[in-house]
Amino acid sequence: MSQETEIPWCNSTWNWAMGCTKVSPGCAYCYAEESLPAKFQGIKWGDAAERRIASDATFNAPLRWNKKPWVCDGCGEAFQTKDEATGTWNAKACKEGATVHRRRVFSLSLGDWLDRKIPAQVRARAMAIIHRCQDIDFLLCTKRPELFQDLAEAAQDWHFDHGDRNVTGWIQDWRKHGIYPKNVWVIASAEDQERLDERVPHLLNIPAVVHGLSLEPLLGPIEFNGPRLEWLAPFKDTDAMLRKTPRIDWCIVGGESGKNARPCNVEWIRSIKDQCVAAGVPPFVKQLGSNPRCRNGAGYYDCPAQLRLKHPKGGDPAEWPEDLRVRQFPEVQR
Ligand code: SF4
Repeated sequence: MSQETEIPWCNSTWNWAMGCTKVSPGCAYCYAEESLPAKFQGIKWGDAAERRIASDATFNAPLRWNKKPWVCDGCGEAFQTKDEATGTWNAKACKEGATVHRRRVFSLSLGDWLDRKIPAQVRARAMAIIHRCQDIDFLLCTKRPELFQDLAEAAQDWHFDHGDRNVTGWIQDWRKHGIYPKNVWVIASAEDQERLDERVPHLLNIPAVVHGLSLEPLLGPIEFNGPRLEWLAPFKDTDAMLRKTPRIDWCIVGGESGKNARPCNVEWIRSIKDQCVAAGVPPFVKQLGSNPRCRNGAGYYDCPAQLRLKHPKGGDPAEWPEDLRVRQFPEVQR
């Protein structure tokens, strides 16, 4: 499935494989599993199930998007124009105050691109398409960043065996020599402190132009304290060469949505947003979730009237406390 999307931090989703296996508490009410469109209802979760592989039309959708790589923030329209003299892409926003950006393609939203059950040749094919679409950005999100080296190597081997030296060399440069693609943001998803602590070191070991976090569904407080402060970008990064160590460049945060949504204390979201701002990392508050709470003085959760939100996912910033209305993106140093 490939489509325009309501997810506010991307322009399109690209699901070249669907289905997954649950790995941690954040997966309990997996949004992908619970939100599958009717035509995909037969897809099963778990290691015993086969993954559903997309049609050619869906698989190749980025090739089409790459021909109109710019998107206007104001109207969502895609632009194609290119300055032939300089070879750079140009675009105009629809109105004053609106901006344009390279299309952001979230993959996978109905699975995990580093799920071992996805056949190696399928991941290899997806990586080849990413390589061909250099004018748009791919936001690859995973709860399994520790598998990147193994699975990228398998994709590299597949291309080697099939004589595609171009993609073989590209993957090898990426995983072995730290020459990362300029159009791939790698994002680790974590729901609590324990999973953050497990996954961030693996995330930062993946060479990438942007290292992002998706702290959703947020199930507990998260502190970037002590040695964890080293994970956050410590300065405004105007010169990539200054970066001795990879850092977190972007942080999405949000509560759980859906009929089984677990409580999300709005203070957890506020704290993460404040820690990011203090460290110079752009935060993106996506949603307060379907079950937003505040902790009262006695240590119990309650749901004050101002958090009885109309939006089913708590995803309308106009309904939030003003200080939480922060939706920033990283400045990408290509
Ligand atoms: S890793 Fe993501 S897609 Fe897979 S089961 Fe967990 S929440 Fe669902």
